[in-house]
Formats: sequence, structure tokens, C-alpha cells
Amino acid sequence: MRFVPRFNDGQEYSEALGKIVCVGRNYSDHAKELNNPVPREPLLFIKPSTSAVSLDAPIEAPFSRGDVHFETELALLIGKTLSGVDEDEAQRAVIGIGVALDLTLRDVQSRLKENGHPWEIAKGFDGSCPLSSFLRVDRVPNWNALAFCLTIDGELRQQGEGSEMLFPVPTLLSEISRHFTLLPGDVVLTGTPAGVGLLPRGATLEFSLTGGLEVATTVVE
Ligand code: ZN
Repeated sequence: MRFVPRFNDGQEYSEALGKIVCVGRNYSDHAKELNNPVPREPLLFIKPSTSAVSLDAPIEAPFSRGDVHFETELALLIGKTLSGVDEDEAQRAVIGIGVALDLTLRDVQSRLKENGHPWEIAKGFDGSCPLSSFLRVDRVPNWNALAFCLTIDGELRQQGEGSEMLFPVPTLLSEISRHFTLLPGDVVLTGTPAGVGLLPRGATLEFSLTGGLEVATTVVE
């Protein structure tokens, strides 16, 4: 079954979700917490459409495969075809803004990285991308002012702001479009701020995003 992105007024987008293009280390404080150098160009990877699930449903994760980490990220829904475009054109193609979790099998990823192997199975497994509904974007917003946060069982664990991104949204989208054509229904995850950690079983996760998006979910035991 194909995942169809939804707006927060309940309406479904006309296209099924395509690929999810993600960026690693887009906040310097997160790069530091994992002892990674700050990159000069965006470190891109892709989660398949089959990794997407609704953030409204309880989160199921493959705990039997080792540590599962949460990474809270700003998610952008793309509404136009973008290939080799400049920053201005790129940012005008965003039609929705939401939040997502980039769930990561950290033990599996570390092992693969040590061996210089690709880490898709640590990042792109089924259910690895819980996605919220999207706030509609009618005009180009102030990307720098976009702020989001995650609380777990009432405790603030992650907060991020557009102004802290090493590659701000327009730059990031333009850069992505030089490597991968973005299509309507594709989603871009913009990287995680510091504070990533173990996804706790049975916990309640609450997300909020500037503009009034609030989502709460639980992690299955
Ligand atoms: Zn991430």
C-alpha cells in the first residue's frame, strides 16, 4: 500500500509519497555529539517510500536489531518537479511543512560505517520514517524562524530552528536537485539537532512545530 501525504486539514495530497531525501549532520551541535566532522557539502541519503508511516499511529520499531535512535527533523513536502534549480525556484516548490522521525538502527549503522559499507538497512527499513501531516505553505515562509521540538514523557529532548541549519532550506533543496530530481510527493528531511537518543519503549512522544502543528504518539512496548 502506498503512503499518501496528508495536510493537517485532513485532505490528502494528490500524489502518493515518493522518495524521502535526507541530510546528515545539518546542525553542527549534532555532528559534534556523534564526533563527526562538520561537512562542506550536504551529506545526502535516501529512505524509500516504504519507510514512511503515519506519526499519528503508535511507533513500532525493530528493537531486536539493536539500539534504535530517534532523530527529530523538519519535513518538507515537494509539490513541483525540481532538477538543477536555483535556491529561489527550489524553495517555491515546497507545499507543506511537517515533522518526521528519522529512526536509525545505531548499532547496525556503526558496524556498517566501520567497514565502509552503505548504511541503508540502518536508515531505510520499513517504518523508519514516521511522518506527521503537513501544514500548507501558501507563500515562501521565513525558513530561519521555523522551530520544532520533541518532548518524551513531558521532558524536552530536542529542539531545532531553521536558523541553526548548516545548509538552510533553499540551499539544501537546490543542492539536492543537482543530484536527484525531486518530484511532487517527494519529502525532504532537513537533519536533526542535538539530543538524539534511544527510543524508549512505552514512552509518549509529543512534537510541535511553528504554525500550530502538534502531534502526539506512543512507542509500542
Ligand atoms: Zn537524520
